[in-house]
Amino acid sequence: MLFAVGADRIHPASEADLARAEADGTDPAAAPRLRATVLPPITDAHVHVGLTELADRASGSLARVLDLGWDPARIVERAARADDAAHAADPAAEFAGTEIRFAGAFLTAPGGYPSTRGWAPPGSVVGVAAPVEADAAVAAQVALGADVVKVTLNADAGPVPDDATLEAIVAAARRRRRPVVAHVEGVGQAERAGRAGVSALAHAPWTERLDDALLAWMAGAGLRWVATLDIHERGRGHGAGLSTAASTALDNTRRFVAVGGTVVYGTDAGNDLDHGELEPRELGLLASAGLDASALLDALDGRGLLAPWGATVSLLPDDATTRAALGAGGDVGAGAGPSSAPAADLIPTLLGAQPVHAAHLEEHLS
Ligand SMILES: [Zn+2]
Repeated sequence: MLFAVGADRIHPASEADLARAEADGTDPAAAPRLRATVLPPITDAHVHVGLTELADRASGSLARVLDLGWDPARIVERAARADDAAHAADPAAEFAGTEIRFAGAFLTAPGGYPSTRGWAPPGSVVGVAAPVEADAAVAAQVALGADVVKVTLNADAGPVPDDATLEAIVAAARRRRRPVVAHVEGVGQAERAGRAGVSALAHAPWTERLDDALLAWMAGAGLRWVATLDIHERGRGHGAGLSTAASTALDNTRRFVAVGGTVVYGTDAGNDLDHGELEPRELGLLASAGLDASALLDALDGRGLLAPWGATVSLLPDDATTRAALGAGGDVGAGAGPSSAPAADLIPTLLGAQPVHAAHLEEHLS
């Protein structure tokens, strides 16, 4: 596959890029080769940067994270610090830290989750009491740079927005081309979020078994789930068996995937997890939920929430293990590809992924 590199963006070459190259006299066959497999930026689509040290060190295997709830002003400050930390650690570092994107504040009913939790600082939760307040609440997050809008529907921990308010939040986000991600907890909340038109659930639902008809409707509507299956198992002893919450989440996810539902990789880092790496337990749980290698690769680009191509790409080493895991050609999107390979085979290769910024891609060409 041919890629085009702009000042701050890498993307698969379009017809226009090829026409421009031809006009410049560039022969694509003679273009420099990249001895690696290029993936869109490997993304953890559910983190809370404010509860991690992600901003204070250079990145590992993650190219990008999506913060799903915090004071947006503090996130902007931390994202700037992440750049500084990466440069301070190694002035010649080719990658300027993990790219931090964010939702901004949690929008919910006044007094709703997580406003009563000690870990949520002032400014991280905005109460939306009525439909008329939705537009300003969404606009405030977008003005500070939010890529998505986060809404919380936790009926087990306080009041939740009513249907009209929820729909007004979704409409306000849509007007600004921002997807809405919903935290759902408590009976009926997953269905309410889906019917209101949110783009994604922040977790695979774990507080109730969703019936097959609802799962099929969600899959057909294009509603995505950021799975976060590992959150239920953190801090539990080995050999304890899956908790009830984990079993319910995994069973819902298996049946959602079986009817064509799209799952997105996310760990809820900050919630008893603090590193800038892909989490092998979460990858393993996605494999056991029925994702094949192709679906696992798709799950890693923050699909439906962030643009698939941006300032960074992720490189997988060009070695026999990678080629075997990706299929005979080792070329995603062409030939046999990875679709029939078991997802578990791909996990060791993914853990060696390296993020590279557009400005430094040329150093990897030969
Ligand atoms: Zn979270």
